[in-house]
Order: sequence, then structure tokens, then C-alpha cells
Amino acid sequence: MATDSCDGCGRPVSVAGGIANVWTFGEDDGSDGTAMTLEFEDGTSHMLCYPCIGVLPDEPTSADVDRLEQVDGDTSRLEPR
Ligand SMILES: [Zn+2]
Repeated sequence: MATDSCDGCGRPVSVAGGIANVWTFGEDDGSDGTAMTLEFEDGTSHMLCYPCIGVLPDEPTSADVDRLEQVDGDTSRLEPR
């Protein structure tokens, strides 16, 4: 398990698995860690913490990642456009 920081909010995170090509939402998908690496439609990939993943739209883009910010230890949000 590697330790790094979230591409969206900069929060320290740990990653258990590899790149996730399928969006697996749910309270517990059976994976460890506090972040996942997501591949986007535009071909970029970003490592994001679960709070950031939770607030991204259904079809996120790297522009959405740029708008992510940390609210507190458990919450992220998208900055208003
Ligand atoms: Zn984050």
C-alpha cells in the first residue's frame, strides 16, 4: 500500500489497488485504502480520495478534479464555477 496525496484536495491518502476502470460506489466495496486512481474520458488519470470521488459528477473530467477542495477531514466539495 502506497501513501500519497489526493490529486483533488491534497489530503494524504493511501492506495490499496491499481487503476479502477469501473466505478464501484457503495459504502464498502471490499477494498482497503482511502483513495483510488481513476481514469478519465480524456485519457488522464488522477488519484482521488473517497470524499472527492463522492462529490464528482457521474462523468468527471480533469477540470472537475481541479475544482475539488477539502472541507474537513471527511468531506470534500467542488468549488463553484
Ligand atoms: Zn481528495
